[in-house]
Amino acid sequence: FDMFVLAFVERFLRPTYRKDDFVLGKKLGEGAFGVVYRASLAEKPSSKKEGDLVLKKATEYGAVEIWMNERVRRACANSCADFVYGFLENSSKKGGEYWLIWRFEGEATLSDLMQSKEFPYNVETMILGEVQDMRKGIERENRIIQTIMRQLLFALDGLHSTGIVHRDIKPQNVIFSEGSRTFKIIDLGAAADLRVGINYIPKEFLLDPRYAAPEQYIMSTQTPSAPSAPVATALSPVLWQMNLPDRFDIYSAGLIFLQMAFPALRSDSGLIQFNRQLKRCDYDLVGWRKSVEPRANSELRRGFELLDLDDGIGWELVTSMVRYKARQRTSAKAALAHPYFDREGLLALSFMQ
Ligand code: ADP
Ligand code: MG
Repeated sequence: FDMFVLAFVERFLRPTYRKDDFVLGKKLGEGAFGVVYRASLAEKPSSKKEGDLVLKKATEYGAVEIWMNERVRRACANSCADFVYGFLENSSKKGGEYWLIWRFEGEATLSDLMQSKEFPYNVETMILGEVQDMRKGIERENRIIQTIMRQLLFALDGLHSTGIVHRDIKPQNVIFSEGSRTFKIIDLGAAADLRVGINYIPKEFLLDPRYAAPEQYIMSTQTPSAPSAPVATALSPVLWQMNLPDRFDIYSAGLIFLQMAFPALRSDSGLIQFNRQLKRCDYDLVGWRKSVEPRANSELRRGFELLDLDDGIGWELVTSMVRYKARQRTSAKAALAHPYFDREGLLALSFMQ
């Protein structure tokens, strides 16, 4: 049996749904290409008032998002929110709209959690299970941030190993899954599946400029444009190696790392100002540090101190993620093997003894 046959069989064994099967609850979000609600099954209204599902009504681009979610469910289910079903709802409107259903993973995105004054301590018991046996301070904060980064990179590695580039990695698209106590990625609306040639960004879609890497295209403009239909092609892994499109997400993940270390970068205005400064330094993070450190306030200095722990191993990692040239950025897999993450294992061992 190959994957295709299995996918085909699975498709028919899974329950199918239509519009009337769902009851909508609170609106969770609204973007240019869709509206997101909490929802539940009509026949089985959830004990929770708001429902245990999430429903996105999307425009025509919802078709790509359904494709991506189906693929993620089969290839790297733990990377993303648990996808239930997607279908075309042919309302009277021409073209109709796509409905996408996921399990409700939890109340908070990483963005919500990062906005709290308590961050990262407000995440500590959520991901580590218990309060760490350490005094409050940068070591303990680093330990929590390390765990978040490891989970984020693990999810990204799953996507990238599957051939999917997300292209819209940001704290708003990272959800804390209460069931698995891990962070998962959501919102595959801008994702590209380059192994099978689905690489679609509608003209009017703007990548979020706050988190986007400096390159405008994730595939060189010289490479032939990807086929529009899901035609499997043996060429794609070669194109992948030539272009390293996954490094676009790595840059965004590096910015999230910086936001966790530096509270000043967590606000929109703070992040925009940082981006301007970094651009002025030709996207050289070491240059940026040299330019701001001499006149840094205590909060900024504390961020550098956190990244400088253990011989600057965190700083080393973040500078290998936030680089101008995609080719010089580390991959998710290589980042996970970075000594920044070893330390945690060593620490955990020393606590157990
Ligand atoms: P968009 O950004 O296009 O509006 P998203 O897919 O990012 O759509 O979803 C919008 C918001 O809905 C998210 O920021 C998150 O708060 C919430 N959300 C989306 N999917 C889930 C899920 N599976 N579980 C819980 N909340 C979710
Ligand atoms: Mg989103």
